[in-house]
This record gives sequence, structure tokens and C-alpha cells, in this order.
Amino acid sequence: MTSTSNQCAVCSKPGKLCASCENIHYCGPECQKADWKLHKLLCRSFKDFRDSPIHKPSHRTLKNFHSPPVTMMRVIAFPINSTKPEFRWMPIKEGTIQRPVVDKYFGHDKPLTGFVSFPLDPRTGKQLPLRITIQNRDSFLTDGSLPNRALLQLTENNLHQKFAGPVLVYGNALESDDGTNIACVNLDTTHLNIIKDWFTNGFYTHPNEPLYQQRFANDTKWFEFGIPAEVAGQMNKDLLAAGEKVPRFRPEDFGTPEFCLWHDRVGRYKQEWAVKKQNEEVAGGAKSVNDFLAAMSEEEEAWRSEMRVSGRVVGLDVVLP
Ligand SMILES: [Zn+2]
Ligand SMILES: [Zn+2]
Repeated sequence: MTSTSNQCAVCSKPGKLCASCENIHYCGPECQKADWKLHKLLCRSFKDFRDSPIHKPSHRTLKNFHSPPVTMMRVIAFPINSTKPEFRWMPIKEGTIQRPVVDKYFGHDKPLTGFVSFPLDPRTGKQLPLRITIQNRDSFLTDGSLPNRALLQLTENNLHQKFAGPVLVYGNALESDDGTNIACVNLDTTHLNIIKDWFTNGFYTHPNEPLYQQRFANDTKWFEFGIPAEVAGQMNKDLLAAGEKVPRFRPEDFGTPEFCLWHDRVGRYKQEWAVKKQNEEVAGGAKSVNDFLAAMSEEEEAWRSEMRVSGRVVGLDVVLP
């Protein structure tokens, strides 16, 4: 939902803007009241964050007058020293996917290297108009990160996992406009519901989840690796030859050091496999490493959308920086 539609944030009937923030619509006092506990966390502060700071004349100083303006994106931050979420304007790091430059705000000692990214409503599984990315510390379970009171407040002490340390949430367009870059989307008060749903419930759970689970159990290649069968088969062989076992992960393992290590390892294996594949086919034709990686990603995406249960590790839409 975006502020250009006039749908009530609660029941989707046509509504009027909240008089205070002029950012979210409600059909009437009943829905407004029902949403107030959540909406009040950001309602008041929105006015101060309506306009990008780059447009304010006060932002231009002698010092930066001649440097090109930095593009900013409006994100929702959950710092650990706050009891509620906060808007922030953050400079954009340009790249294939525009992301906020995070270090400046959260320090370099324990960087926010964990990414979870989803284009589907975590409660209903329906397509969202944007992709939401949640960034946190990978190692929050073991690095002594303090509990995040703003997250506890958001979810009414009902986090689906014991998230700790600072968390940052930002938005991106679903697709690229110019065929190369995926633009950022400024978050506003209307996105808080989706964020709350994710932190409370994790991903959407399909009604046929038990059936899917059974299928995972039988399709071990996918279940254990989350990579295409051909690659997984080879990786499995290599591990067996080395006397190693394939670890099994459950949803609650997400974010643990073991999970992150395994995730990295599978990623490296995919890369190496693509390089090997390219070398093998050098005589036959000009497929690049990226072609192989793209083909793998396509297969992976197709599988994920078919098996979209997503509360499970196999369905985690993890995007690495
Ligand atoms: Zn309503
Ligand atoms: Zn409001």
C-alpha cells in the first residue's frame, strides 16, 4: 500500500488521510482506533521526514555546495537505544540494487551484514507493491547484542525469534525501470504493518504447508542445499568424499553462526561450480560465469515460488550484499 491510494489501512475501503501525518488513510474512527497502537509509533514524526533533506536549502552549505547532491532514501530504523521505530534519511549506495549506506549510523565494529528480503506479504503471501529488506547483525545471537526494545514494542513482546541489536528496514522497487538498476522506495507509516507482521510471524505459511514439508523431506537435494539439483548432487558427492555431513537447518536456526557459515559455503560452491562449468564448455561456446549463475538463480526462483511456504529455511529469500 502506498500513500497515493486512498484505501483504508485496515479494511481497504476508501478512506481519508490521518489528519496528523497526512500519510495513511482510514475509512473512519473505528479503523483508525484499531490501528492507533501501531500507527502512533510513527505518526507524529512523519511530518519531519516528509521531504528529503537534500531539498532543504539549509542542507546546502559552502562546504558541500559544489559537490553533487547525494540521493537519500527514507528508511525505518530500530536502534537499540530507542523504545520505538524511527524514520531516517540515509544516503544511497548506488549499485544494481540501491541500498542505504549503513555503517555511518551503526558503526563498523558489528556491521549489519544480515539480510532478509521479501516481495510477498508475510501474513497473506500476496505480492507487495515493493520489496522490503530487513538488515540486522548476522551474529546477534552470540555477539552480546542488546535486546531491541523498539522491536519488542512493535510486536508487543511477540517476536518470532529473539532478535537483538540494531535493525534497519528499507524498500526497493520490485523491478528495474531502466533494465539495470533497482531503485529504492521510501518507506512511510503505511509499511509498519508489514514489518510488524514479519517480526511477529516470520514468513507467510501456506495452508498446504504439511504437504510441502513432506515433499521437502523427499526432495533432499533442494531441502538441504537450496540450490539446483545438478549442483547439489555434485556438492553432496564432494562432501561425502571428504567425509562430511550435510547439516539440516530448521527455521529457528536462521541467523545462527552455523547457518551463516553454511549459507556462505553454498554460495561459494555455486560460484566455483559456475567457473568450472564455464571452463568445461569453453570449446563449445561462449557462456560466461554469469550466464551459469543466472540460470541457477532462475531455477531457484521458480522452485521457490512453487514451494512458497517460506517460514522454512528453504524458502528464506536471503539476499547477500
Ligand atoms: Zn477501514
Ligand atoms: Zn497519522
